[in-house]
Amino acid sequence: MITADLLKQVPLFAATPDEERAQIAARAADLHLRAGEWLLQEGELPAFFVLLEGRMEVLKRIGEQDQRLTVYQPGEYFGEVPLLLGSPAIASLRADVTSRVLRLEPEDFRDLVSACPVFAEEVVRTMTRRVQSLQRLSVEAPPTPVTVVGSRWDLACHDVRDFLSRNHVPYRWLDPGDGAGGDPRARLAPGEAYPLVIAPDGRRASAPSLRALAEHVGLQTRPRAGRADEPYDVLIVGGGPAGMAAAVYGASEGLCTALVERVAVGGQAGTSSRIENYLGFPSGLSGGELSARAWQQARRFGAEMVVARGVTGLGVEDGLRWVSLDGGERIHSHAIVLACGVVWRRLNAPGVDGLVGRGVYYGAARTEALGTRGKQVFLVGGGNSAGQAAMLFSGYAGEVTLLVRGPSLEAGMSQYLVDQLATKANVRVETGKEVVEVEGDGHLQAIVVADRGTGRRERREAAALFVLIGADAETKWMPPALVRDELGYVCTGRDVMDLLAARQAEWPLPRDPYLLETSVPGVFAAGDVRHGSIKRVASGVGEGSMAIAFVHQYLAQAG
Ligand SMILES: Cc1cc2nc3c(=O)[nH]c(=O)nc-3n(C[C@H](O)[C@H](O)[C@H](O)COP(=O)(O)OP(=O)(O)OC[C@H]3O[C@@H](n4cnc5c(N)ncnc54)[C@H](O)[C@@H]3O)c2cc1C
Repeated sequence: MITADLLKQVPLFAATPDEERAQIAARAADLHLRAGEWLLQEGELPAFFVLLEGRMEVLKRIGEQDQRLTVYQPGEYFGEVPLLLGSPAIASLRADVTSRVLRLEPEDFRDLVSACPVFAEEVVRTMTRRVQSLQRLSVEAPPTPVTVVGSRWDLACHDVRDFLSRNHVPYRWLDPGDGAGGDPRARLAPGEAYPLVIAPDGRRASAPSLRALAEHVGLQTRPRAGRADEPYDVLIVGGGPAGMAAAVYGASEGLCTALVERVAVGGQAGTSSRIENYLGFPSGLSGGELSARAWQQARRFGAEMVVARGVTGLGVEDGLRWVSLDGGERIHSHAIVLACGVVWRRLNAPGVDGLVGRGVYYGAARTEALGTRGKQVFLVGGGNSAGQAAMLFSGYAGEVTLLVRGPSLEAGMSQYLVDQLATKANVRVETGKEVVEVEGDGHLQAIVVADRGTGRRERREAAALFVLIGADAETKWMPPALVRDELGYVCTGRDVMDLLAARQAEWPLPRDPYLLETSVPGVFAAGDVRHGSIKRVASGVGEGSMAIAFVHQYLAQAG
């Protein structure tokens, strides 16, 4: 318990009159933290803290790493800068050793600052010093990020840039075709090939696979546990909203949790330029921001986040479930949540396959946005994802043409996006049109567009073509015992019983499957990959968290 006598020994309160010390003591919380426990996370609303005993690390997330900015010692205090500026915390605080901290809620702190001039003067002096040191930090040279060297028209270079940005790894890109900015490090050494990836410490990786690239920049690509004698409680396949929600709920509820993601956390939502309808974000948030926050949250609760690894098989052995990863390892777990979403449907037109990544892109490919500056770009699709992408590119391209097969935009797109597009002078919408051919020598140069009503074809010059024509489940790697519908979506709950009955197969347990349980007991499905799902960020998040509730029930019942 915090007492007025205890406060007297803290330099900050030494000159405070006795009656004010008593008031502060009455309002202060007494926090005891174990080593490694978080007091505050970057981005959260702060409180005012005084370190009474122990040591507190100040950490800032830069790229993939938590970098230690400083360490507070007993008697030091913090939180006043964001509190007085009304901003979220700009760094995180974590106990370095067992520590004791006094906490004042924002209202109490503000009351105290206005009621106690001696205290206020000391706090404002410290705040000024800290803001000045932040200003100094911001003008100092930033750390060198990862450097990528490769051609704009090289698919492998596009994949490297896309992978880094979706994994929130900052990088600068040099194109040898533009002289690579005269940087001597961009020249190939004997045996090297483009794309070349140079780590901040100078290590070079030549034409790396995605997994090698992930390891090169310090991302986790191997689960730490998962042997048959050390299984996870729950293993999640896929890092979109559904998978990340399962990871956050699983780890926060004490389950030993790992998530395996083929490319980068965020899934489809991570490629969205602005999600405007997610509860609690009245001015919207980008998919990148949502996934970065969720990733941080899952890691904070202790979930392992393994990226650049695809799951290629699944089975049951000796009462445990397992998945196999590309590259061969088997990872064991008591329960599995399949949250592997859907993948973009391919455009079936001559010339497309040879130009993917060389001017033709599936999805919004936000890494390409800068490269479209002032140019003529085309988007194919009439859904919300195409609408959002058109909004994004309208900020860069000279002209954005949205080609829609159907007779109107309203049929497939939310009204708010239709209205937003109408305000953009450089966005044209053409309905009843489809792309029937693409042309280019090494990179896209033109597309052929057909009018579905008249059949008339027209050749148009194009710098980029973005294809957003819906998505399908990709579940061929799953075993036959895992029942799917005719389109490959995974069946759960009541649908499992109906489909099993139709196939004259049997559910093996005396109880019915749980709502999100598949035909393999202990394997659950959540989000877009699930038969009958709603295909929204919020429903994916909801199902991911529900799946964990069923995992608990399954584990309790399985003993
Ligand atoms: C451009 C765009 C904009 C959108 N905007 C909105 C919006 O504004 N509001 C809204 O509510 N919804 C929006 N959506 C829909 C929403 O993003 C999806 O419904 C949601 O992302 C589905 O989440 P999910 O976790 O089920 O699957 P996904 O987001 O598809 O994630 C699945 C993940 O699993 C990974 N994966 C797949 N197979 C494997 C495997 N075998 N091994 C390992 N990993 C694997 C994939 O790489 C992927 O990262 C948008 C979608 C797109 C494409």
